[in-house]
Amino acid sequence: MMGRREDGQGQFFYSFDLDKVVPPDHLVRQIDGLLDLSWVHKELAPYYSHTGRPSIDPVLMIRMLIVGYVFALRSERRLCAEVQVNLAYRWFCKLGIEDRIPDHSVFSPARHERFRESDALRRVFEGVVAMCIATGLVGGEAFSIDASLIKADVDKKKRMPGDQPIAWPKVEEASHAVREYLAALDTARGDEDGSGDAGGSGKGSDRHKPPKEVSLTDPQATWVARPGLDPFFAYDANYLIDNKAGIIIDAVGTRANRTVEIAITQTMVDRVERRFDLRPQRLAGDTVYGAVRLLKWLVDRNIAPHVPVWDKSARTDGTFSRADFVFDQQRNIYICPGGAELTSTGNIDQGHIVYYRASKSDCSQCSLKPKCTTATARKITRDLNEDVRDRVRALADTEAFQQSRRERKKVEMRFAHMKRIFRLDRFRLRGLSGVRDEVLLTATAQNLRRLAKLLCHAPPLAQACLA
Ligand code: SF4
Repeated sequence: MMGRREDGQGQFFYSFDLDKVVPPDHLVRQIDGLLDLSWVHKELAPYYSHTGRPSIDPVLMIRMLIVGYVFALRSERRLCAEVQVNLAYRWFCKLGIEDRIPDHSVFSPARHERFRESDALRRVFEGVVAMCIATGLVGGEAFSIDASLIKADVDKKKRMPGDQPIAWPKVEEASHAVREYLAALDTARGDEDGSGDAGGSGKGSDRHKPPKEVSLTDPQATWVARPGLDPFFAYDANYLIDNKAGIIIDAVGTRANRTVEIAITQTMVDRVERRFDLRPQRLAGDTVYGAVRLLKWLVDRNIAPHVPVWDKSARTDGTFSRADFVFDQQRNIYICPGGAELTSTGNIDQGHIVYYRASKSDCSQCSLKPKCTTATARKITRDLNEDVRDRVRALADTEAFQQSRRERKKVEMRFAHMKRIFRLDRFRLRGLSGVRDEVLLTATAQNLRRLAKLLCHAPPLAQACLA
């Protein structure tokens, strides 16, 4: 006989226990056990007024943001709607069945003010990394570094050439992203030692060169024009991972350019050592990280750079490259393929480049000249730290270097997951600080899911190995 439910109001009172309806193996239970937010109230107290209406609990907002990034609900409006109806999300946020959900509009001021001033999101991220270290998921011996371009949230038609004057609105009428850009410009102008720049990129950026195009909605985004790609505005997500289990041990959103990627690598390696007392024996990266400045910085800290050396001296037109010349360290000269000597005057260009020149008389009589130079005499350059490059080149033949190359794929996997599973293929927030928040929250969510997977789903033997 067919059963049929009667329409009607049914019971007036229900006995309901939210804890009983969330399955024991649900992801929210696993990540809840891995998250320690007990510090939040105490640490953020100085950023709240002692008078006035009580704010939304910052722990609730952080928990909601974590739900949003772990389950790829990146719009705060949608996040609030989902927490409203999803019992598991309510349970994770410690909300009762009848508790009101905060309005989506509370997140933006919290992010821009208290969370940013107190660096709360970085503390949440570092708390999760500390948990990964405590559970044995971080080896600390080998790291990998990489950056991934993420599209900025802009209409690319709203842009101006970077070398033309732009009439920005008054500060009080400008958007948050434009205000942040103008403030950074002011800082850079007042910074006589050159350590600041409009993009917040840090030391070593090429701030004097105007950008090719400037977005009028998010001026800190970088115009990326590469062969075969439709140009777009973007930022970089930079990840430093530990190679043992692919845990992200530092993450920073930055402007998208090579100089910034190198500077932020130093910042991240330094910070990981300061916070967690971890300094790797080797660091793997692609050619972007093969600039001699970074190689020397790593070698000085006894970190083996497992990175292809960035060297533009190779020629592809059939003429002799620098590698065809032999350096005589003792005599400080190069010997050319024709047997002549190239000597240096000792002058140093741009603080690190030394020129070596052959004599006009040698070159003018040389039968190899058509394969060497069209000038009257051949000239080659050598970096002051060329010996560092040579040492790094020699590492490429070692088994450890090959192992680092294989392990470097783990950081590429983290970026693939970031875009595919966590749906961060376009930033939702504008301005560099918004981008930094999104990168940190995504990295936190990735680490939490990985930690939960490795600890809660690993077979007992694997768990014993990780312990
Ligand atoms: S052209 Fe000059 S530098 Fe080149 S191989 Fe001949 S002598 Fe050497």
